[in-house]
Amino acid sequence: MAPIRRRPISNYLMRAMVLDEPKRPLELRDVPKPKPSRGQLLVRVSTCAVCRTDLHVVDGELPNPKRSLIPGHQIVGRVEEIGDDFNPQFKVGDRVGIPWLGWTDGDCSYCRSGRENLCDNARFTGYTVDGGYAEFTVADARYCFHLPERYDDVEVAPLLCAGLIGYRSYRKTGEARRLGIYGFGNAAHLIAQIALYEGRELFVFTRPGDIKTQQSAKSLGAKWAGGSDEMPPEKLDAAIIFASVGPLVPIALRALSKGGTVVCGGIHMSDIPSFPYRDLWEERVITSVANLTRRDGDEFFEIAPRVPVKTKTETFLLEQANTALDRFRAGELKGTAVLVMNAT
Ligand SMILES: [Zn+2]
Ligand SMILES: [Zn+2]
Repeated sequence: MAPIRRRPISNYLMRAMVLDEPKRPLELRDVPKPKPSRGQLLVRVSTCAVCRTDLHVVDGELPNPKRSLIPGHQIVGRVEEIGDDFNPQFKVGDRVGIPWLGWTDGDCSYCRSGRENLCDNARFTGYTVDGGYAEFTVADARYCFHLPERYDDVEVAPLLCAGLIGYRSYRKTGEARRLGIYGFGNAAHLIAQIALYEGRELFVFTRPGDIKTQQSAKSLGAKWAGGSDEMPPEKLDAAIIFASVGPLVPIALRALSKGGTVVCGGIHMSDIPSFPYRDLWEERVITSVANLTRRDGDEFFEIAPRVPVKTKTETFLLEQANTALDRFRAGELKGTAVLVMNAT
């Protein structure tokens, strides 16, 4: 007997949460199920974690999203069908992770120099192509990941962006022994675990007065935690800013020792106020992180289960995506929001 499927309602339609235009709530709709073209996987979505970037897209803070967009770029699912019936990396039934980087041209000067994250023609999942707030999605197999088995579909979803791009930010801090983290949200919580595993000393900065988050950072193993208006007890070799708050850049710069680096880890940030040159002097560096390369993913999924990096999640049904986004925006989530497609 064929397994009973609650959904889809037909072979041609699927349920999806659609963004018709920024600054409007997503709409639950039946839309045509996508078909995989050559090199693509059709994936039955199991879970999709909600990223701050989704908020930036929905709130109209990022330019030129796809029209009638299905957001979501931390997608976990099973391969349902393979375009042209053949793919050397995946077979039907495999679990697969789909990240933010959806496609690159492989041909521009960035791609040719190992920097596909900067590709001139890159396509991004849940932003310029449809993502995972839906029962199905298609993805170019070359950009998909096999996921570590120790994680279930809910646990692993937040690793696909907060983990991956957080990891790229972390790698940009080089050998920094004393590492500062400004903004202790999802990405910070994941990266802090790797930093501690690798023996870094961790200094965590939260909103002034957020004692609860400071305590949770300390219980994770941070050497010091305080408000972003405070100076750390020691100068830092590097700092990552995960909060999308531009004024934190000159503040973090002042906490650095000579030659230190500030890494801005988000895709969007409010304006950075001016600051005296002496704060940058002595070879301090300000840099940003854009997107991810497949190599970041391979490295991260190799180290994450060894640590093991643990995620904190809160699950929502697909049709509750607006609630998840609203609660994220209001800072009311206790973990990463993860949409679950076929919860019964
Ligand atoms: Zn390129
Ligand atoms: Zn993201």
